[in-house]
Amino acid sequence: MPINFENYHYQMDSRVGARDLWIGYSAEAKTLTRTVYEDDGSEEEVAFPATLVVCSMCEGTATVVNPSIDAGGLSGSDLEDGEFVSSYFRGHYDIACPSCSGQRVVPVIDEKACGDELKDALERLRRQEEEEAACEAASRYERAMGA
Ligand SMILES: [Zn+2]
Repeated sequence: MPINFENYHYQMDSRVGARDLWIGYSAEAKTLTRTVYEDDGSEEEVAFPATLVVCSMCEGTATVVNPSIDAGGLSGSDLEDGEFVSSYFRGHYDIACPSCSGQRVVPVIDEKACGDELKDALERLRRQEEEEAACEAASRYERAMGA
């Protein structure tokens, strides 16, 4: 089966797979709550101290260009269309950044503020996130290949 490159670029675009990073954040407590799985299969909701950093997806601009417009880059014929190009650069196709929800910053776990009692949970969480990222990448790749 031939690869549909448009679909491929769309699925592999970081904007398409972005998750709202504010989920689990408490502005009052300044904590980020995550589910951490124990070796015995039980799970625990752990509130980690959090800090706000500039969103790396939109670089603090709060918006990104809709990936259905330019995932995989713009083609030569796109660039010959003057009206399209000027709308594009005026931000006509921008959407609220899916990662920070247009807040310009995102909460991240403040590792330095994690006491000894949280170190173990943090380590588990990091391992979990690596595994999830690997799974997610594999399933996006499958979708990208049209599976
Ligand atoms: Zn953002």
